[in-house]
Amino acid sequence: MISANWAGNYEYLSSGLATPGSVEELQEIVARSPRVKALGSRHSFNDVADTAGIQVSLNGLPRTVTIDEAARTVTVNGGGKYGEFVEELADAGWAIHNLASLPHISVAGAIATGTHGSGDRNGSLGTAVAALDLVTATGEITRAKRGDPDFDGLVVSLGALGVVSSVSLDIEPSFDVRQDVFENLAWPQLLAHFDELTSSAYSVSAFTDWGDDGTSQVWLKSRIDSDVSAATRSELFGATRATSQRHPLPGGPSEWTTEQGGVSGPWWKRLAHFKLEFTPSNGAELQTEYLVPREHATGAIEAMRRLGPLMAPLLFISELRTMAADELWLSPSFGHDSLGLHFTWKQDAAVHELLPALDEALAPFAARPHWGKLFATDVSRLDSLYPRLPDFRRLAGRLDPNGKFRNDFLDHTIFAG
Ligand SMILES: Cc1cc2nc3c(=O)[nH]c(=O)nc-3n(C[C@H](O)[C@H](O)[C@H](O)COP(=O)(O)OP(=O)(O)OC[C@H]3O[C@@H](n4cnc5c(N)ncnc54)[C@H](O)[C@@H]3O)c2cc1C
Repeated sequence: MISANWAGNYEYLSSGLATPGSVEELQEIVARSPRVKALGSRHSFNDVADTAGIQVSLNGLPRTVTIDEAARTVTVNGGGKYGEFVEELADAGWAIHNLASLPHISVAGAIATGTHGSGDRNGSLGTAVAALDLVTATGEITRAKRGDPDFDGLVVSLGALGVVSSVSLDIEPSFDVRQDVFENLAWPQLLAHFDELTSSAYSVSAFTDWGDDGTSQVWLKSRIDSDVSAATRSELFGATRATSQRHPLPGGPSEWTTEQGGVSGPWWKRLAHFKLEFTPSNGAELQTEYLVPREHATGAIEAMRRLGPLMAPLLFISELRTMAADELWLSPSFGHDSLGLHFTWKQDAAVHELLPALDEALAPFAARPHWGKLFATDVSRLDSLYPRLPDFRRLAGRLDPNGKFRNDFLDHTIFAG
């Protein structure tokens, strides 16, 4: 019986956990339960996956990985985690476009919350969804594919529309990536060269504690087939090349991180920050993230620098990433190329006291919170932040008229308006 999320900061209040062994059994559970909610790999930091009824885990379903070379998709079942199929996909000569910082999360849970990696031209992970099967409130399966009416509302669903029993993701020919780390990029340089910096590799992440010194590390993940400028750089806008393997946290265990130092390797061994064979931490952390439209990037960074002294005692590290605009209704990067401002906090109750100040400081920049992390957003802002929110409510009303998949999280955010 699972009672808490991965970080251990949230105890589920559900009345139990069902683990069906087949899709048919899943359908029966959903059909007969008055309240039910899909549970993924439990990597969210809030109550988004909780329910007053039962949670259902898809971990008991037979693992399936089906590569359709003609359609250029890989199909995995709803409980599948990225780490469970990436190697097989690469061995067959294929890749997906991006990964989050760790490969241990479930595909269905990741897409349900708008999870993303980094890269100016990389959409959030949900943009790779070509089709999905959804067990709706009646227990019937609806199959939807890109281009169908309402498809863009079905992907970032917060589990509010049903249980995703299978997901098909776009694939492309496999590619190799090298990872180069640069240290000590000063704020004036980062701000003056922001666009050049974030476009300097396929995926760019900058780590900072918001202190005066700027970013401690910048990780460039470059595709060998198209983009090897990192190879020739001895410096990056004044930042110097790291001389050995690094962890984002100064002094953290560098053997946990994916290989750096410009050594090329398969996409799945470089695009995530943390190796599949290591659980990146024991979970003793909290996370918050806001996405701001790219045009507000420098304003939002300056605002966070002003909050730096307040955040410092509670912060492990922050990460800046960029992502391409998408059309998924509830995606935090809907309609805008975006900058993600991520915060990994210590597990300290004072974090919750800080969150309203963080939200207030970022609100002028149309900041959208990551649905799976901690935030204190004034929900009256959500309607203006998400123009398709009324459409999502209508879709939820149609697929789940009795609110079987609703929970406190949804009632206090999506359905509060
Ligand atoms: C260490 C760590 C690193 C992280 N790194 C990143 C990162 O790099 N980028 C980023 O954007 N986020 C990141 N996250 C956040 C994480 O990606 C999200 O919280 C994501 O939702 C986790 O997926 P999950 O399977 O654990 O979902 P859960 O927490 O189990 O559930 C989240 C939501 O998904 C729904 N859901 C799950 N499975 C299904 C299903 N089969 N059908 C329908 N709905 C479903 C649940 O009902 C719930 O609403 C990180 C989290 C951790 C703990």
